[in-house]
Amino acid sequence: MSPTFQSEALQYARGRAKRFLDDLKAFVAVPSVSTDPAYREEIDRAARWIADRMRELEIDGVEVCPTGGHPVVYGEVLSAGPGVPTVLVYGHYDVQPAEPLELWTSGAYEPAVRGDYLYGRGATDMKGQVMAVLHAVEAVARTGPLPVNIKFLIEGEEEIGSPSLRSFVESNKERLRCDVALNTDTGMIAPDRPTIVYALRGLACFEIRLYGPGNDLHSGIYGGVVHNPAQVLCELIAGMHDGDGHVTLPGFYEAVRPLTAEERSELARLPMDESFYREKTGAPLLWGEAGFTPVERTGARPTLEVNGILSGYTGPGAKTVLPALAMAKISTRLVPDQDPGEVREQLMRYLEAKAPPTVRWEIVDLGGGPASLSRRDSGAAAALGRAMEQVWGKPPLFKREGGSVPAVSILQDLLGIDSLNTGFSLPDDNMHGPDERLHLPTWYRGIEMLIHFFFNLGEQGGTLFKNKG
Ligand SMILES: [Zn+2]
Repeated sequence: MSPTFQSEALQYARGRAKRFLDDLKAFVAVPSVSTDPAYREEIDRAARWIADRMRELEIDGVEVCPTGGHPVVYGEVLSAGPGVPTVLVYGHYDVQPAEPLELWTSGAYEPAVRGDYLYGRGATDMKGQVMAVLHAVEAVARTGPLPVNIKFLIEGEEEIGSPSLRSFVESNKERLRCDVALNTDTGMIAPDRPTIVYALRGLACFEIRLYGPGNDLHSGIYGGVVHNPAQVLCELIAGMHDGDGHVTLPGFYEAVRPLTAEERSELARLPMDESFYREKTGAPLLWGEAGFTPVERTGARPTLEVNGILSGYTGPGAKTVLPALAMAKISTRLVPDQDPGEVREQLMRYLEAKAPPTVRWEIVDLGGGPASLSRRDSGAAAALGRAMEQVWGKPPLFKREGGSVPAVSILQDLLGIDSLNTGFSLPDDNMHGPDERLHLPTWYRGIEMLIHFFFNLGEQGGTLFKNKG
């Protein structure tokens, strides 16, 4: 409809590269760590910050909505009217903890540009991705009429499994009504390979606590008579995989959908072989479930990881102690049809069968959500794919992703809509780790891609979802 508006919007964005980056830096400087109660005020500050930015863009009805946990920021621009699609932009303003701080080259919350990258916690996951959408909306809105209606749902609990999102969506169904969701919390496999993610894994996280003696003991006096909880924990964890890399929790694979031959051959086309993973990780050799390729293992198969272990003395020098307790954080990544609640039961059954009577144990739930699967052939996916071709000169790759975005399955479940999962983070962005970074040339291309996407989607008008049933 409007090649002129479209090129003006692109022009607008290109002329504001520096200001866009300065905005992002200010956002990254807010340490909005969702998992640690010590950062509660910073969480609120980040929510207000993003709400203020949305108000500056004259987005309507901007509200910082309280939930049982961290607030959700909502806003909408419905000026395009009926007859064109409404996109629900999903994002999160919270981040993972930055520890260990000494491994960062510059401060985690002192965003710094080095070379082509912006470094800082949240730069890529996902403050950069949230700002890319806001910048694209700004460029379109400031240069002409918006070609689509847009609603925003920016939450503050993604990194802790979105515990309040389901009830928020449930009680705001009407307000959130839309045709499709745009979730920019996934990434690309390389700077020249735009990617659409059609499946995301689910997540279930636990803490296992083992209690042995009433307090820490002298290992010389009591070693050999009291079962050391740290040792028991290691044995229990070691037993959670067999020699072929299969998870041994009873029934763990029962609900897992087998991959079809067609999907396996499509996934095999992704340029992500053994050497890709070795190079990205620095690991001397890969490991994993026998009978599946690395791409299948990270996207289409469930996994179990030990995220951390804590017990006994870990300071300098030796201390001859027999610890009273031991703790491990465990997370499982789930595929479609696996239920996080059932996985908890399976972990209980495993511990009931394997934990020796020399210790007491308990499991603490740390949240999670089911996996999701989106259609690859929708009109909205075509609009996104075409936008990628317009910017990168090549069509997108379709990929399953190992990560989890609970919102995607919640939106599918409660609003009946698919999410377009995309984004401009790269495999070596150090997401969740020290020196998290954002590749700025890709980010700027991403902003342009989103501008194209909004116009492409608008052009398809009301016909887009005709056959949606
Ligand atoms: Zn994220």
